[in-house]
Amino acid sequence: MNERDSEAVAAQLVAKGYSMTADALTADVILLNTCSVRDAAEQKALGKMSHVAGQLRSKNRKAVLGFMGCMAQSRGRELIDKLPDVDLVVGTQKFHRTADHIGDLLAGRAVGVVDTGEEKGSEATIREHLLNGASDKKSVTSFVSIMQGCNQFCTFCIVPYTRGRERSRSIDDIVSECRELVNRGVREVTLLGQIVTSYGRREIGERDGKSAFVQLIEAVHGIDGLDRIRFTSPHPKGYGDDLIEAYGRLAKLCESAHIPVQSGSDAMLKRMHRGYTRERFLEIVGKLRAVRQGIGVTTDIIVGFPGETEEEFEATMSLCREVQFDNAFVFKYSTRRDTPAAAMENQLPRELIEQRHAMVLAAIDEMGARRYERFVGKTMEVLVEGPSRRNAARMEGRTRCNKIVVFDGGNRFRGELMELKITRNGSFTLYGDPAIVNLN
Ligand code: SAH
Ligand code: SF4
Repeated sequence: MNERDSEAVAAQLVAKGYSMTADALTADVILLNTCSVRDAAEQKALGKMSHVAGQLRSKNRKAVLGFMGCMAQSRGRELIDKLPDVDLVVGTQKFHRTADHIGDLLAGRAVGVVDTGEEKGSEATIREHLLNGASDKKSVTSFVSIMQGCNQFCTFCIVPYTRGRERSRSIDDIVSECRELVNRGVREVTLLGQIVTSYGRREIGERDGKSAFVQLIEAVHGIDGLDRIRFTSPHPKGYGDDLIEAYGRLAKLCESAHIPVQSGSDAMLKRMHRGYTRERFLEIVGKLRAVRQGIGVTTDIIVGFPGETEEEFEATMSLCREVQFDNAFVFKYSTRRDTPAAAMENQLPRELIEQRHAMVLAAIDEMGARRYERFVGKTMEVLVEGPSRRNAARMEGRTRCNKIVVFDGGNRFRGELMELKITRNGSFTLYGDPAIVNLN
C-alpha cells in the first residue's frame, strides 16, 4: 500500500515538472513515506530522516524534508518538534496535496506545513502511475488502490486510526484506471486495500448474491488485454462463497490467495477481534483448494499477542502444519499506542516473543521448501517483470500462484508471458531454464 501511495505522489510530482533522482543528497525534496503498523518501522523512519538531515547539514545543503503516510498521520506536528529540519508532514488522506505544499515551501510561501485532516473523496486520489519512472523496469504489473481505511478495529492494529474509516472508489473509476494501465502495457493488476473483501459494502452493496468486491473483480476481468488479476489483503470474515466461486469461474483471477490468519487459537482470535474461527479459516482454504488446484496460499501471523499461552501458541503452530502455507509473514507483536491490546494484561516478555517467532519462521521455511520443491520439473506460466532483484544479469517474473522465478535471459523477455520449465528451487524462489523456454 505504501509503495503504491509513494508511486502516486511521485507521479504527481513528475507531472508537475519535477524529476526523480537516485541520489537523495542531490535532491531538492526528500519525502519519506512511513508505516506505523509496528514500532520498528516508525523507529527506522525516524532514524533515516535524522541521518539524511545530518548529511545535508554537513554538506551545507538545504532541501525540503517531508514525512508522509501513517506515522505522519498519527504523530503530526510532533515530528517537526522532534526533528526541526523537517518542513512537511502529510497525512494519509492528503497525499494528493503534497505537490502543492512542496511548491509553497520552495517558493517561501509557507514554513513548516502539517496537513493531516480528513478529506472527503480522498479514496479516489491515488490514481496516478509512474510506470517507467523510478526504476528502469518496464512495468507490466501494477497496484491499483480500490479503497482506503478499515472498520474492523482488530485490537492490535493501528490502521483504523491512521487510515480512517472504509471508503471505496466506484467500479467505473477503478476499471477506467485499469484500462488506462493496460493501454500503457500493463498485463497484471493487484487490487489493493486494507480489507478488500469489504470493498463497496455500503456504497455499492450486493447484487444477485454477489458482493461489491466480486462485482468489481468481474468488471476488471472484462478488460481486453489484461491477463492477470490479484488482490490484497482480503479478510477471512469477508471471504464468502461468491468470492470462492469467482475463482472457479474467472480465468484471469490468479490462483494465489494471501489470507491473513494471525492466530490458530479461537480464544486468541476473539481477543484480537478478528471475527472468525480457526474452523472457518480452514474451511475457506479447503474450498479454495477444491475450486482451484495448485492455488498458492500465504498468510500473516502474529506471535506474542498479550496473554498468548503455550496452548494458544501451539494452536498457531498446528494450524500452520495443517494448512501447509506456501509462505507467511510472521510478525512479533508490537504494542501500538491507543489500541485496546496495548492496555491488556499479561504483555509477554521480549525473549519469549523472539523464541516463538523463530519457531514459526523455522516451520514456515521448512514447509515452504517442501512446497517449492514440488514445482521442479513442471512447466509454469511466468510474467517476466524485469531484471532479478538479487542479480541484475538475470531476469525474474512470477507464476500465477505468485512464486518468483529467476532465469538467465535478456531484456527482450521483459513483459512477456512465458512458459518456463522449473529446474530447481531455492529459498522461496524457483529457477527456470532458458533453453527450454517457449514464447507464448
Ligand atoms: N489489513 C490487513 C493487514 C494490515 S497490517 C489484514 O487485516 O489482513 C499487515 C499485518 O501486520 C497484519 O496482517 C498483522 O499480521 C501485522 N500487524 C498489524 N498490527 C501489528 C502489531 N501491532 N504487531 C505486530 N504485527 C502487526
Ligand atoms: Fe488492521 Fe487488517 Fe484488522 Fe483492519 S482488518 S484492523 S487493517 S489487521
